[in-house]
Amino acid sequence: MPMDQAEKERLLKIIKKGNIHIHRGWKNFSKNIALPDVLVLDIKDIPSLQTVMKTLYELNASKAVDQRILLRVAAGGKQKPYSESFSFTEGSTADVIIRLVGDDFNKIEKTNQPDVMRIGASVQVGEADKMLYEEFNLSLPTASLIPYVTVSGLAANAGHGTGKDQPSFSGLIRKMTLCLPNGEITQIDDKHPDFDVIRGANLGLFGVIINMELACTEAKKMQCIMQKRSIPELIEEIKNGLFLKDPYVSVMYVPTYQKDELVNKEFKNVIIYRWQPIDKSNHDVNNNSSIMTYLGQQIEIDLEEGIHVVDLLRRHSRLIPYYNKYLVSQIAIGKEDRLAVAPWYRMHYQKAYPWDIVDADYLFQVHKNCDEMVLALEKVVTTLDKFASEQQYPVIDAIYLRLFRGTSTNSGLSTSSHADDTYVCGFDMVTSDGIAGYLEFREEMCQFFINGPLKAKPHWGKYLPDIDYVKLYGKNYTAFLAALKNWYHDNNMKLDSSMLLTDHFCQILQLPYAPSLQKQKKTAIEQVQSKTDDAKIIKSLCVRLDDKQDIHSINLKQQLLSTNIEREFNNPFTLFQMEPKREDSSEEAEKKKRCCVVQ
Ligand SMILES: Cc1cc2nc3c(=O)[nH]c(=O)nc-3n(C[C@H](O)[C@H](O)[C@H](O)COP(=O)(O)OP(=O)(O)OC[C@H]3O[C@@H](n4cnc5c(N)ncnc54)[C@H](O)[C@@H]3O)c2cc1C
Repeated sequence: MPMDQAEKERLLKIIKKGNIHIHRGWKNFSKNIALPDVLVLDIKDIPSLQTVMKTLYELNASKAVDQRILLRVAAGGKQKPYSESFSFTEGSTADVIIRLVGDDFNKIEKTNQPDVMRIGASVQVGEADKMLYEEFNLSLPTASLIPYVTVSGLAANAGHGTGKDQPSFSGLIRKMTLCLPNGEITQIDDKHPDFDVIRGANLGLFGVIINMELACTEAKKMQCIMQKRSIPELIEEIKNGLFLKDPYVSVMYVPTYQKDELVNKEFKNVIIYRWQPIDKSNHDVNNNSSIMTYLGQQIEIDLEEGIHVVDLLRRHSRLIPYYNKYLVSQIAIGKEDRLAVAPWYRMHYQKAYPWDIVDADYLFQVHKNCDEMVLALEKVVTTLDKFASEQQYPVIDAIYLRLFRGTSTNSGLSTSSHADDTYVCGFDMVTSDGIAGYLEFREEMCQFFINGPLKAKPHWGKYLPDIDYVKLYGKNYTAFLAALKNWYHDNNMKLDSSMLLTDHFCQILQLPYAPSLQKQKKTAIEQVQSKTDDAKIIKSLCVRLDDKQDIHSINLKQQLLSTNIEREFNNPFTLFQMEPKREDSSEEAEKKKRCCVVQ
């Protein structure tokens, strides 16, 4: 609801008095949400936060419920790279967005328990882990793969890492300090009857989190064994207990669209990461080869941000199998398994990310034999194969598999509530918007994961399909709604006029008090193909491939050149340019191909 003049003046007055920086316009990291007119308040201390909340609360009290002003928190505003809001979903969309940028929200302090630390809402998880390790001899026992999300943002959306004995990130919370919509400060811990429900996935609906106390573990180094595998080898290893043999395991699979991807053991497009915490006194090994280097992720970022290669792939999807094979071939593990040792915070995180991505992450329960993971993997590989036979290659980035213990059965809208005898798998599919076939693939996967035997739940911060969330969560939804209503009642606030309850959440929670007017323009702009030029992209990419002698680089270059010829000269060569032949990739076949190409 846009504010009238008198309301704006009242807000501006308190902004001037407070420790607040104001500006207009906001977008998230992946640029799929852009709000050009939104009022963004960078708040530097707790009293200023309280005044903003109280003022809007009072303004809303005198308005009709559906005319209320909406406010949400977003991460970011630290004036450094990767300080942004990393959700793909509409959680921060509102009339006013606040970012908690001051010291009050960025401290890391001891509590009276040696292994519990108080961490400011805006501290990024990687930052927290580094400081915990170096100054307090502690580590976060589980965290997202990305180090740049804030502790409050990750917890709000029930974010997760990996680790067979680990809860979701919010399972580490021992206490939270919040600023309520009416401006009052309150705390919640396990003495509160709804603590498990509220911490499981608070969705930013209970108040603005100022800090949270998180359970930590003794600082260690991490030993990581990286293994390059094929899909059938991965499946075999999962069946043999891969995810339960080491404390932390995750898997990255880059689809290369071979016809026989499910059975061919020759082509290694899977990397298994197996982590073991070891004593800090161990020497670092290969510590430059952090996980990021192994993923070849920086190569991908350079290709995307510098050259805009994704635009080329959107326009010429037949290049995707060649591009993905090239990427996999750049991952410097080779045939031998590799080992690296480094401090926990340096080994765990993947440090570089392209912004031009979309992500669908489904969480489902898994029994000890991990049959459910195998089922999901086989389904995804066969579906990708089906799309490939129609010359569509929907996933251009990677698919990540993680297994963790999850949260208790009674944790509200947590995506990882699980029965005592099960674990939780996070099955994460990352690609770019606008890739041919992606929307159809996403829909098919959504049907399979949610309506199929796995009964999966979508990650709150990634892709939220238009489904019945009340039905999906059943009694856990009922518990969440009861906790939300009790919270507002017990703190003398009206839920139906909450500034935090935006139309996005009203729809998901099926609450009847959605604000009638949401005038913010949501423009999914820059995701759409930019005005990049194929010839330039191809030229830059070919320059990079010039000194490479391996078969996949040579093949990609040949495909790029033929694309260029097609475009620039409308050459009769086009007539011979067929869709990529989907060959098997056995060593023999690769050798034959090499002969053809090099000649
Ligand atoms: C490249 C990339 C990699 C990712 N990897 C992972 C991963 O490994 N694991 C995983 O689980 N997720 C992952 N995500 C998803 C991401 O972790 C979640 O979407 C997370 O919620 C983002 O947190 P944020 O700090 O950016 O907060 P935002 O995205 O800005 O906010 C998330 C939600 O929390 C609310 N919120 C934020 N701060 C507060 C506060 N102080 N008080 C109350 N509410 C608040 C916001 O209003 C919003 O609803 C990834 C996302 C990207 C883009």
